[in-house]
Amino acid sequence: MDQPHALLVASPGLGHLIPMLELCNRLSSFLKIHVTILAVTSGSSLAETEAIRAAVARGRCEVREVPSIDIDHSPDATVPTKIIETMRATKTKTTVQDAVKSLNRKPKVMIVDFFGTGLMSVADDIGVKATYVYVPSHAWFLAVVVYLPVLDKVVEGEYIDSKEPMKIPGCRPVGPDELMETMLDRSDQQYRECLRSGEEVPMSHGVLVNTWEELQGNTLTALIEDGELSRVMKAPVYGIGPIVRSSGPTEKANSIFEWLDKQPDKSVVFVCLGSGGTLSLEQTIELAYGLELSGQSFLWVLRRPTSYLGASSSDDYQVRVGLPEGFLDRTRGVGLVVTQWAPQVEILSHGSIGGFLSHCGWSSVLESLTKGVPIVAWPLYAEQWMNATLLTEDIGVAVRTSELPSKRVIGREEVATLVRKIMVEEDEEGQKIRTKAEEVRASSERAWAQGGSSYRSLFEWAKQCRLAS
Ligand code: UDP
Repeated sequence: MDQPHALLVASPGLGHLIPMLELCNRLSSFLKIHVTILAVTSGSSLAETEAIRAAVARGRCEVREVPSIDIDHSPDATVPTKIIETMRATKTKTTVQDAVKSLNRKPKVMIVDFFGTGLMSVADDIGVKATYVYVPSHAWFLAVVVYLPVLDKVVEGEYIDSKEPMKIPGCRPVGPDELMETMLDRSDQQYRECLRSGEEVPMSHGVLVNTWEELQGNTLTALIEDGELSRVMKAPVYGIGPIVRSSGPTEKANSIFEWLDKQPDKSVVFVCLGSGGTLSLEQTIELAYGLELSGQSFLWVLRRPTSYLGASSSDDYQVRVGLPEGFLDRTRGVGLVVTQWAPQVEILSHGSIGGFLSHCGWSSVLESLTKGVPIVAWPLYAEQWMNATLLTEDIGVAVRTSELPSKRVIGREEVATLVRKIMVEEDEEGQKIRTKAEEVRASSERAWAQGGSSYRSLFEWAKQCRLAS
């Protein structure tokens, strides 16, 4: 019998391609099915090409690149809007149809990512019976997005002016401050795109979401079991997380690991604000003094402060020049500052890492949780405000800044206190956070062990779409 075939369609940008490649790994290794990824790439990104090359080399999937498609966007369209519009465009649909026709075997199901829901309508044309959406974020985010069309009807004025958090049935309410930027101006095109995604997700045959039962049981229940939210959601939801990159071999000659190898167990705080997170010059300086003041060892992936954006990105000196005078000399041996792309998963897997100061992108969060590393939440954009709340108030593995870092500069004393809290503080809160981080790590392993919640969920999904019997 022919091996069943699933088609995954990834939106442009590394942030969408990587989660799809990881999902593909999981599908092919657990379900033993054939997977083809159609990667709608941005055309000029070397990083995308490299990620595709590495995925093909692993031999788990076939990747077809659908090169960048020129669309006329309005001059003030933001990046997320451009991506959603690109995926919705007739040109993209035609290119995807042509690419599918050229495949040797016909896919049984199609999975689009959250930005690609506009492409679900090609399923009929390519003869695919079932279309699913992969949300590489968490269940609360999914709940808010699918409930947005309801909020749109019942809430008057801008959400940001709401005095109260907005109720999401069966879930934690979402505060106006926690919403994504794309939801804040209801007259803007990006809000309308977000709303449309919220309407389209429930029209799929089901949603795969990167979380697990023990982490977000209540929210998953509200999405799945009969109630107001599941009636809005309509389609079945499958918690199949955590799906994260696994760590690869580390290069012995890499100066980062040479340095980490010399540090005691759990003694280093890792500071990294994702692929695109940058700070103002003033904030960079306060963070530097704060790390110094904390007395903890640190590994800091430093990006150019925003005020240096004119400088060439490869100019290491320009990055370091944002640091306070003498900082590198005073912290020599205690801290390591790197300016290049860092092997984050491998770093978080190193025994010397005891904490992570993170912007709380969901991939970074999962990479930390699966290693049992507690977090200082430093949310910067997108759904990271929600992620920070989830980590501190629901899950209990993090501390967060007293205000959103976008609203005011977080001072050095506060930085030092937060870092010390997750690394060394012997008070009840510090200890609880470290214990909880370890419990969550163990639960993330249970979720994917044979018979675990995500393992069962994946097979249940595969049965529903007849990829497995
Ligand atoms: N990352 C990395 N090295 C870096 C910065 C980021 O490996 O120097 C990886 C990180 O491990 C994660 C991804 O980039 O897998 C960032 O994704 P996330 O969802 O955390 O945040 P985003 O960058 O998309 O805001």
